[in-house]
Amino acid sequence: MPYKVTLIPGDGIGPEVTKATKMVLEATGVKFYWDLSIAGDGAQDLFGTPLPDYILDSINRNKVALKGPITTPVGYGFRSVNVALRRLLDLYACLRPCKTYPGVPTPYQGVDIVIVRENTEDLYVGIEFERRSPEAAKLIALISETLGEEVKKDSGFSIKMISEIGSRRITKFAFEYAQNWGRKKVTVVHKANIMRSSDGLFLNTAREVARDYPHIEFNDIIVDTLCMQLVRYPQQFDILVLPNLYGDLISELCAGLVGGLGLAPGANIGEGIAVFEPTHGSAPKYVGQNKVNPMAMMLSGVMLLHYLGEREAAERLEEAIAQVIAEGKSITYDLRPNPNPPVGTSQVADAVIAKLEEKSNA
Ligand code: NAD
Repeated sequence: MPYKVTLIPGDGIGPEVTKATKMVLEATGVKFYWDLSIAGDGAQDLFGTPLPDYILDSINRNKVALKGPITTPVGYGFRSVNVALRRLLDLYACLRPCKTYPGVPTPYQGVDIVIVRENTEDLYVGIEFERRSPEAAKLIALISETLGEEVKKDSGFSIKMISEIGSRRITKFAFEYAQNWGRKKVTVVHKANIMRSSDGLFLNTAREVARDYPHIEFNDIIVDTLCMQLVRYPQQFDILVLPNLYGDLISELCAGLVGGLGLAPGANIGEGIAVFEPTHGSAPKYVGQNKVNPMAMMLSGVMLLHYLGEREAAERLEEAIAQVIAEGKSITYDLRPNPNPPVGTSQVADAVIAKLEEKSNA
């Protein structure tokens, strides 16, 4: 029986990297039935919304999706289709492995960090009060009344909201992941010294959860110190678990350490449901040029294979990608400097497929 997977090519460079990824996934020999779903700019034109209901129905039905990036619409609809999707499906865990592959031009070798980002809370909940709105005025009055603090009358507000339930389930997810993947250490990232009610709750909840996993090392770090330590000595970190905003920022930092967004895969995971997508966005300036690196999306495909229980195929595909990188002949512009001229998105797919075929003929 083929696996039924919702396939969302997205927009911008999404369709190009999705096509390349679909090809390499099929070349592993694993059988898929792709439930093609149009979201983003194309859906806006066809259905008047970048996120039609049928997409949510398809993911809820198939329980697993492979998704390309989607441009955040400016001036209409959702603040972000990607954020909306994660919240509507309650995909509370964002998993982003950042690993150096031999041959990648980066000053850092031996990095193997897994980022576990909380995906549904924090400043992303969208509770905002516009400057000089009646709601902002009420909030200013409340703050003055309850805390005795004077707030500037022309202030705008974005509320940072972190719950105990949300903190518990994401830190539990990080420890379960560590346990299942033989990882040694979980580090919780926060700024609890300043934001005691939100980050303090996240940290204290993580400490409680850690007691259930005495065999896994646990420590915590303040987010600014983490930034410095990541640049100095990233190899010291194993699994990082972070609230939403820090998770977003640190994912990009770690992607930079291991060669850039072209090599940074990801997954958004809920209870029995998962959407696999690269960390990068729709890179509008490269649309239709057969230029960008499809490996971030291909590595998201590797994660999808693991999720489906296709471990051997996942390892084979990752190895094929790693070999193409190491050879340095069929790599895109972003993995410079390299003595060979860069190739396009589709040529990378051809090279990875050739490696898979070599293995099956060996
Ligand atoms: P981006 O990630 O799309 O691109 C930034 C730059 O990174 C590109 O110009 C390019 O130089 C490089 N880059 C990105 N992907 C690459 C790849 N596969 N290979 C090689 N180089 C690559 O970020 P942006 O320009 O800030 O965002 C563009 C749009 O994408 C925005 O509308 C944003 O909201 C959206 N976005 C979507 C998602 C998602 O769908 N999950 C994630 C991030 C951003």
